[in-house]
Amino acid sequence: MTSPFLDAAAALQDEIVAIRRDLHMYPELGFQEFRTAQIVAEQLGALGYEVQTGVGKTGVVGLLGSGDPDQRTVLLRFDMDALPIQEENDVPYRSQTPGVMHACGHDAHVAVGIGVAKLLAKHRDELNGTIKLMFQPAEEGLGGAMAMIQDGVLDGPKVDVALGLHVASQLPLGMAVVRSGPMMAASDKLQITVRGKGGHAAHPDQTIDAVLVAAHIVVALQTIVARNLDPEEPGVITVGAINAGKAANVIAETAELRGSIRSFNPAVRQLLHKRIHEVASGVATALGAEADVEVVLGVDATVNAPEPTALMYAAASAVFGSEKINTTYRTTGGEDFSAVLARVPGNFFFLGARNDERGLNFPHHNPRFDIDESCLHQGVAILCDAAVRALKS
Ligand SMILES: [Zn+2]
Ligand SMILES: [Zn+2]
Repeated sequence: MTSPFLDAAAALQDEIVAIRRDLHMYPELGFQEFRTAQIVAEQLGALGYEVQTGVGKTGVVGLLGSGDPDQRTVLLRFDMDALPIQEENDVPYRSQTPGVMHACGHDAHVAVGIGVAKLLAKHRDELNGTIKLMFQPAEEGLGGAMAMIQDGVLDGPKVDVALGLHVASQLPLGMAVVRSGPMMAASDKLQITVRGKGGHAAHPDQTIDAVLVAAHIVVALQTIVARNLDPEEPGVITVGAINAGKAANVIAETAELRGSIRSFNPAVRQLLHKRIHEVASGVATALGAEADVEVVLGVDATVNAPEPTALMYAAASAVFGSEKINTTYRTTGGEDFSAVLARVPGNFFFLGARNDERGLNFPHHNPRFDIDESCLHQGVAILCDAAVRALKS
């Protein structure tokens, strides 16, 4: 079966590529998406959507359809923010803003969102319920999804199903990942301050060396993953930063460790947090120092519900063929759409955007990140089809 929206989406391809390139040239950081939000609001307004701006600071919501509370409301989410990265691609549409770049593909998401808005507007009279478009700010660790939730994006009308996508440079063009259950990880931060006793490098016996204690903690933290986790359950502890000491001949009094904790399963998440406290404090105590250990909660795991996943699978299969749909891949990356999926059943899927022949295969958040834009209309077709299916179901 072919997708009922694929031809119409393909006809929009040039237009949405132009939108994506314009957004790519003028990227905006989280909660500063003023230009992007204005473009979105103007496009939605011109298409006849009921538009709300300033939802979660710079978010935009567009409503279309019956508005009948007895019918379903389907939310489609597109994030809009860029990253503090200097672009190194030499393309005509490279970022014009020094130090800011769409290096995660959220420009593509906004372009897909506008494509979806255009296509669904053509079918407004056939919509069996309400479509709610959520153009979200600040996905990159700043809590944009939560800001929109607090401003009521899931109410009035109440959302029954939530759908979203991420373009994926790790996945070849013409493929999608659509899976049920946890698809992206919970992501938390660890901060450990080791307190020892500073002194002369020549007289370690009169000191408590915070650098040595920190080094033991880094090693011991990995034993949690290796020895405490169920081998069937993934978990990651990464110490990404160590700050300690200033001089070669001085023993440091304090050391700071900062890192990232990833997990899919809430029980694993809890275990990791508990053991990080125990291991870091215990190692510090054993070596005569003290450790202040703090775990800062980040996003929850992104968990897809079975029924919306089945709809998305059908929609993606209609575009790519079922043999091109991966139903098992998941990643320890984090995603704040998880906050929506924790409240409303839904599905978040990965859209293949990699093209090795054209060198479009750099990882997300890399200064050379780019996508094969042919995926844009495919994303539009899949989401329109899934949304219409969700209204009917
Ligand atoms: Zn990102
Ligand atoms: Zn992203």
